[in-house]
Amino acid sequence: MKLFKCQACGQDVYFENRFCGACGHALGYLPFSGIMTAVEPDGDLWRALAPKQPKLRFCANIEPDACNWLVRADQDEKYCAACRHNRTIPDLSVDNNLEHWRKMEFAKHRLFYTLIALRLPLKNVLEDPEHGLAFDFLADDPEKKSIVLTGHDTGLITINLKEADDAIREKLRTEMGEPYRTLLGHFRHEVGHHFWDILVRDAGRLEECRAIFGDDTEDYGEALKRHYADGAPEDWRDSFISAYATAHPWEDFAETWAHYLHIVDTLETASAFGLRIHPATTKNKALHADIVFDPHHAPSMQRIIDAWLPLTFAMNSLNRSMGHADLYPFILSEPVMKKLGFIHDIIRDSAVPAKKPAKRGLFRRSSQPPAAPDGPLAPPPVGPDIPAPMDPVVDPPIDPPDQPPPVESPPSDIPPEISPPQPDEIPQPMHAG
Ligand SMILES: [Zn+2]
Ligand SMILES: [Zn+2]
Ligand SMILES: [Zn+2]
Repeated sequence: MKLFKCQACGQDVYFENRFCGACGHALGYLPFSGIMTAVEPDGDLWRALAPKQPKLRFCANIEPDACNWLVRADQDEKYCAACRHNRTIPDLSVDNNLEHWRKMEFAKHRLFYTLIALRLPLKNVLEDPEHGLAFDFLADDPEKKSIVLTGHDTGLITINLKEADDAIREKLRTEMGEPYRTLLGHFRHEVGHHFWDILVRDAGRLEECRAIFGDDTEDYGEALKRHYADGAPEDWRDSFISAYATAHPWEDFAETWAHYLHIVDTLETASAFGLRIHPATTKNKALHADIVFDPHHAPSMQRIIDAWLPLTFAMNSLNRSMGHADLYPFILSEPVMKKLGFIHDIIRDSAVPAKKPAKRGLFRRSSQPPAAPDGPLAPPPVGPDIPAPMDPVVDPPIDPPDQPPPVESPPSDIPPEISPPQPDEIPQPMHAG
């Protein structure tokens, strides 16, 4: 994600901020321009301090403090580009539902940031009743003994609200042997099923996809049952991004799709900070990178991977310094990179024409893999017996990097255009409670 600033005072602000922590201006996100703007009241509407913007309204979900996106006042839309895809939201009068739904919305808005940046086709159910993208945020009902299964069906993504409860989600993560489980990961995985329908099945690319991900005509329900009964094959790390990806080619696609989104978003953040990775211990160019390009418009998957590998090596090392688990506990094997390459290609081929493609620096790559960082965290148990929901949006269990990232070599010029906020002016995250 990009970095954002308050136009009134220059303070750095987070994507979720509702107000500038320094000058107090209200802030909102302009999805059609990809910027955060400070706003000032203008009658019943709002005027952006960012230049050349129309008059604006806040999305109606500003009311429950679940959205800070703006809508053009000349459009007849009550909800923003992200919220207009909501079909069902939870009963906000029930304890904790509001807090949990806000967390869901924070993650969902980040998902939409990336979908928009990739210029993917986005239609809601009003625009495409057959296969519009829609979300149901549902809670289990103990009285009716109904359990909500997280999953995707013909454009409709259902998310169980309890995933927003950190204790519950962490318990599920542990029980399922996953090294990574987040709300954002759930959204990125589920929307992968939606885009398989649109960019693969409906776009005449089934055979091409099957050549890479395998035969998806295999009975899906039976495949999941088998996966939950037997677990993943021992050698799954050789060709899958996660154990769950082995369950069925559709799940492999969704898992890999989620990783593509993880990677481009995180690389954009690294690029926004002008990150340079130059480990002192090696001259191996594969471990060096200057990350100064917009991964949403990278010309090839290889270019993305060449930056990603050194970055994950550095990020994992930073996390270990803080006693955290690896930030990216996954291995990108050759077959997985090939799958990511397919996803890169279908996204680029489907991109809706852009107004202004971002151009930024570049980074170079090199060749050899660095020596593996020692002591990867113990590989997560591959979790077999897990309850098998229809589509257990499992965010990819990952594997610990036993190999450090092969990466690339860095060039020279990194524009340090951004100066870090001083400690006392760190942007206040939008509150969720
Ligand atoms: Zn400000
Ligand atoms: Zn909204
Ligand atoms: Zn799935």
